[in-house]
Amino acid sequence: MDPVIRSELDTLHVQLDSDDLPSRNVLITGGAGFLGSWLCDVFVKAHAVVYCVDNLSTGLKENLVHLLGMKNFVFQELDVARPDLEDRRYDLILHFASRPSPGEYRQHPIETIAVNAEGTRNMLELARKTDARLLLASTSEVYGDAQIIPTPEAYWGNVNPLGPRSCYDESKRFAETLCIGYHRTYGLDVRIVRIFNTYGPRLRSDGLYGRALSRFIDQALSGRDITVYGRGEQTRSFCYVTDTVAAIVKAAASPRMKGEVVNIGNVYEVSILDLAERIQRITNSKSNIIFLPRPADDPQRRCPAISKAKQLLNWFPRVNFEDGLLRMITWFKERRPAKR
Ligand code: UDP
Repeated sequence: MDPVIRSELDTLHVQLDSDDLPSRNVLITGGAGFLGSWLCDVFVKAHAVVYCVDNLSTGLKENLVHLLGMKNFVFQELDVARPDLEDRRYDLILHFASRPSPGEYRQHPIETIAVNAEGTRNMLELARKTDARLLLASTSEVYGDAQIIPTPEAYWGNVNPLGPRSCYDESKRFAETLCIGYHRTYGLDVRIVRIFNTYGPRLRSDGLYGRALSRFIDQALSGRDITVYGRGEQTRSFCYVTDTVAAIVKAAASPRMKGEVVNIGNVYEVSILDLAERIQRITNSKSNIIFLPRPADDPQRRCPAISKAKQLLNWFPRVNFEDGLLRMITWFKERRPAKR
C-alpha cells in the first residue's frame, strides 16, 4: 500500500474506538472512489468482510489494488442503478456511489440522477430485505448556494432545480427523502451524512474529475497555469480526508444516528484565490494564476455548522489546513511519474 496512506490509516485507527467498527459484512458502493476506497481500507483493517462495488465511471481500480486478493475483500464491477446485486446478508451498507465532481456530473446528468435515485432505491430495498443499516453519503450541495453561513442541518437549501448542478443537488436531495421515507415506513435504520469539501490522497486532479484543490496542486507542481474561476472570491471549507472518514465511521456506528442527518466538514473557510496562492507558495511554484469564467450556479460561500456532529458523534476535525495541504502535496509528489 502507498506508504503515505498506510501511515494516515494507522493514525486514523488510533482515533476510532472499537465500538466504531462493529460491523461484520459491509457493502461499500462507490468503493473505488476517493472516500469509498478509504472506507474499504478502514473496514478491511478492522477485519470486517468488505464487499465493494463500483462501476469505475469515476472510481479507480488502482485505489484498491492492495486489497484485491485479500480474504476479507471482494470487489465487483457493477452499476448500483441496475438491481443485480446478490442478496447477501449485509450488516451495513455505505452508499457512496455517485459522480461527485461538478465538471463531471454536468457532463453526465442522467447517469448522476440514476445512481442517486434508482441506485439509492435499490440499496434501500437491499437493506430492507437483508435487515442492514444504511448510511447515505449526501453532500453540502443539498444546500445549493446557501444563504446561511455556517450552514446548519436545519437549513432547507437554495437550489436551482433546472441549473447545471441540479442533476447532483436535486438527486441527492431526493436520495435523502427516499431514505427518510424508508425509515418512516419500514423503520429502516438509515443515517445521512452531508459531506462538505474533503481533500487528501486519492482525490482526483485530472480532467473533468479534478476538484479545485487537487487540480491546483497538480498545476502548481507541473508548472502549468493555476486556473481560478471568476475572481476567486467564492469560498470553500476543506476537511482533511482522515477527519471526514473518522466522522463517517462514527456516524455509521453511533446508536444516536438512526434516522438522523449530520454535516461533516471543517469550519475553516478560505477563498479559492487564497487557496491558489497558498498552493503556489507552499510548492514554490513558477505557475501563474489565471482567471477563467466562473461556472453558472457555483455556490458563493460554503462552510458547515458542525455542532451537531460534535454533539452526536463526539467528533471534531483534528488536522489543520496548512498541515493537511502539506500532507496532500507530499503524497502528490511521491506518486507523480518522474518525467512530466
Ligand atoms: N474552481 C476553480 N478552478 C478550478 C476548479 C474549480 O476556481 O480549476 C472553483 C469552483 O468554481 C468552485 C471551487 O473552486 O468555486 C470548488 O470547486 P470544486 O470543483 O472543488 O467543487 P465544488 O466545491 O464546487 O463542489
